Amino acid sequence: MIEINDMFYAKSSDAAIAEAGEYGGAVTTLLKFLLKEGIVDAVLAVDSSADLYDVVPILIEDPEKVVDAAGSLHFGTLNLAKFITRYLDGAQNMKIAVTVKPCDAMTMVELMKREKINSDNIIMIGLNCGGTMPPVKSRMMMEQFYEVDPDSVVKEEIAKGKLIVETEDGTEKEIPIDVLEEEGFGRRTNCRRCEVNIPRMADLACGNWGVIGPLAGKATFVEVCSVKGAEILEKAKEAGVIDLEAPIPKGIEIREKIDGAMVKLADKWQVNDWESIEGREIFSVLTEYMSDLSRCLKCYGCREACPICYCDDCCLEANNGPDWLTKGEIPPSPMFHLERMLHMAESCTNCGQCEEVCPGEIPLAKIWHEVNTKIRNTFGYTKGIDEGKPPIAFFPSKERDESGLDKAIDEQPPIAPKPVP
Ligand code: FAD
Ligand code: SF4
Repeated sequence: MIEINDMFYAKSSDAAIAEAGEYGGAVTTLLKFLLKEGIVDAVLAVDSSADLYDVVPILIEDPEKVVDAAGSLHFGTLNLAKFITRYLDGAQNMKIAVTVKPCDAMTMVELMKREKINSDNIIMIGLNCGGTMPPVKSRMMMEQFYEVDPDSVVKEEIAKGKLIVETEDGTEKEIPIDVLEEEGFGRRTNCRRCEVNIPRMADLACGNWGVIGPLAGKATFVEVCSVKGAEILEKAKEAGVIDLEAPIPKGIEIREKIDGAMVKLADKWQVNDWESIEGREIFSVLTEYMSDLSRCLKCYGCREACPICYCDDCCLEANNGPDWLTKGEIPPSPMFHLERMLHMAESCTNCGQCEEVCPGEIPLAKIWHEVNTKIRNTFGYTKGIDEGKPPIAFFPSKERDESGLDKAIDEQPPIAPKPVP
């Protein structure tokens, strides 16, 4: 009987899937099994579109098509939680199995706490993640460091701390990631600071770390993180679609060691990016970044990309709330950023979506990650894990009804429009 905290080396018993998968195709096998058995209505995964740098979410309903999305895409910087709230109605009426990096998984948990995603309808197949790379900058990296045409790259892989790329003529080139990062390339800056590599908030956490011996490179290390995860794995094993074996104890040790080393590296990047994290209190963080924030064009890109920003009527839009922002004025008043901070900072999972889209190149993820860390240290609220308490500034609807907050908001007199000068 499989239980929470159990660990396995897993690989597909289907040779074609094992070959197509990144490390033995266990994830693809589980997704296909869930769909074929009708346990879920759809699978949400990612695939490359125009090229390897253009990674898009895909919703799969045909079990035979799941294998087309096999493999790990390190230029895949999406946040799949946003896709579920915006386009799939928060899985309210549809059962979905989704592949999640730690930042996807943590965001899902925050949105579940905020009643925006239906946890009963979601199965999270977690992927360990040491980081993703920014698509545009990575194209430059291919030219400058690998000296190849970015369009000729047909495969990318991270192994033993190196980014290995293969071009269409079969040539392979590899460069250590820390060398790339010293030159300002490599992983996204938010990923470098990220201290969660194994998504234990998902139902299963899958990765290559710790797979040693004859199965090295041919199987995935699976850690069971929930009852749901245990049941899925048990069913797949009974159906004979997945091969499981006990991990080599030394492999478990190695996995822990690599994770620990990555957490230490993330701490170093945090200190580097935030200078003195202990020194600054929450509000002074914004003051520190005033000159960066003055590049804001009020394009609302960060709000649109942010998975925690989900209100239909945003109080930062004219006519939707207090008259905090003067129309046509850029940069907007700091209220713009302060209001966003109050709405999302405690749940910010450092997914980097805001920073990626900002035309003002404001280091938004760096700012909000620091604020979030200070909130955690001050109030003891940790993003991305379900500790049975709601986010600090959020009332679940039942509590809102009881507190009379919704009624009070409804009864508030409308705000008179400002006279046009
Ligand atoms: P497959 O059967 O190949 O299935 C992989 C599934 O993941 C596919 O459904 C695919 O659509 C989906 N997927 C691919 N890229 C993404 C993405 N960017 N976001 C969301 N879903 C995606 N393991 C470690 O132990 N250490 C690491 O440092 C590490 N870093 C990783 C970084 C990234 C960006 C990714 C995507 C994975 C990483 N992994 C890491 C996990 C590892 O590469 C394999 O995904 C895992 O071992 C499962 O292998 P598999 O053959 O079972 O997966
Ligand atoms: Fe301002 Fe950048 Fe946000 Fe646009 S994305 S509103 S420029 S901070």
